[in-house]
Amino acid sequence: MPFPGARPVPVTIVGGGLAGCEAALRLSAWGHPVRLLEMRPLETTGAHKTSLLGELVCSNSLKSLNRETPHGLLKAELELSGSPVLEAALRCRIPGGGALVVDRDRFARALTERVERDPGIRVERMRVTCLPPDRPLILATGPLTHPDLVRDLSRFLPGSRLSFYDAIAPIVEADSLDCDLLFRGDRYGSPGEGDHWNAPMDPATYERFCEDLLWGIRVPPHEGVENDPEVLRAFQACQPIESLVESGPETLSFGPLRPVGLTDPRTGRIPCAVVQLRQENAEGTAFNLVGFQTRLKYSEQERIFRRIPGLGRARFLRYGSLHRNTFLDAPSLLNPDLTLAGLPGVYATGQILGVEGYTESIAMGFLTALVLDAAWRSDRPWSFDASETLPPPETAMGSLLSGLRTASSSPFCPVNLHFGLFPESGDSGRSRRIRRERLVRRAEQSFRIWKDRVPGLSGEERRVGG
Ligand SMILES: Cc1cc2nc3c(=O)[nH]c(=O)nc-3n(C[C@H](O)[C@H](O)[C@H](O)COP(=O)(O)OP(=O)(O)OC[C@H]3O[C@@H](n4cnc5c(N)ncnc54)[C@H](O)[C@@H]3O)c2cc1C
Repeated sequence: MPFPGARPVPVTIVGGGLAGCEAALRLSAWGHPVRLLEMRPLETTGAHKTSLLGELVCSNSLKSLNRETPHGLLKAELELSGSPVLEAALRCRIPGGGALVVDRDRFARALTERVERDPGIRVERMRVTCLPPDRPLILATGPLTHPDLVRDLSRFLPGSRLSFYDAIAPIVEADSLDCDLLFRGDRYGSPGEGDHWNAPMDPATYERFCEDLLWGIRVPPHEGVENDPEVLRAFQACQPIESLVESGPETLSFGPLRPVGLTDPRTGRIPCAVVQLRQENAEGTAFNLVGFQTRLKYSEQERIFRRIPGLGRARFLRYGSLHRNTFLDAPSLLNPDLTLAGLPGVYATGQILGVEGYTESIAMGFLTALVLDAAWRSDRPWSFDASETLPPPETAMGSLLSGLRTASSSPFCPVNLHFGLFPESGDSGRSRRIRRERLVRRAEQSFRIWKDRVPGLSGEERRVGG
């Protein structure tokens, strides 16, 4: 029990996915009675196929276990903190190289059994159509939150604080760019000065690039999820770059690749087309390709986008995507104590909060449970200071949280963990390999120090990937 003191309170959790199960099992272990509300099998999301809790809807891989990678590091932190969902995944591991690949059926069954058998958790199968009045309340309804609940939530979240699909542009590492082929400049700013890098294209390069996009292999729509007319309408409002080209060869040069206001200081001319690269993090180690939301397969993104001048050796921190996804505008809604602005006692976690990916969702389930437990045991749950409770920004979990809180993209795009979210180690003169190693060692050390300070988290330490 991490935070001895005041009495634990009953917690209502809506959604029995990865984040909901992680939060439920943690809170129950720390003495909070939990009511877990899950709509399946009474209603389906279109992507889920079973009534099992923690069902993986697509790939059965939870990505790398290599601790030198952000995802491996995140799993190591989850394991060190005693994550029950990660433990179930490790038990159901099947061969998959360096990745944590699971037998999805065995994994979801094991998790369901564990949650349903937990004496502190009551699972109720019901569709939640409006924000329940219970407090504390955790929303963990995921990317395919039932539309009735989405409608009700919109009443509490004015403006565009709740999205129905995400349109993500790729992010590349700054030191993988060939700056000799790029120029600095903001639109209508002084040529050669500004925050953006620009990749100029001559007519032949532009034509070939459009041709590549037209023929590039795309990810097919998810059956039952993205064939829905409402979702297709939403997609039309935010077309992927390869679909724009279908409307005509000049669409891109009048759209996301428009060169107007961008004079190349080396030639004194405005190029035929320009790909703009916008700084993604405070350290300037990551840049996103402006307007490049795409449904091209990852391998195609590498092949085609590396043909952009200056991106020949680009390393991708994140690939572009466009898919159905219900998520909150975390930077504007997330209070320091992880409750939602304007909704005291209400937490959101997992993908609906704005992270993307299985492991990220599990990690957020843990962090939400941790803060909720500490807040509701304190004598000031409504104005709780979570700064001492949450892991520091140098850790993988802390970096993920910083990514949610301070995302620079506008509109906000869901966050998946990558090295660009980790604070720089101050070794800018060193090689990339050494800088990465230092980030990883610093993250490991910070996590251990933090974990030892948090009562109840210092269980048995097994090494992930060992
Ligand atoms: C089509 C698709 C494919 C994906 N593929 C991948 C992938 O390959 N790899 C990857 O890492 N990530 C993938 N993701 C993202 C992945 O779904 C999430 O990262 C992860 O499952 C989110 O966990 P979660 O707990 O937040 O939500 P979920 O696991 O989706 O759990 C949410 C739960 O809430 C329930 N629910 C929803 N609304 C209500 C309601 N109103 N009342 C009661 N219950 C409700 C749902 O039935 C569900 O069980 C994919 C997402 C989608 C939509």
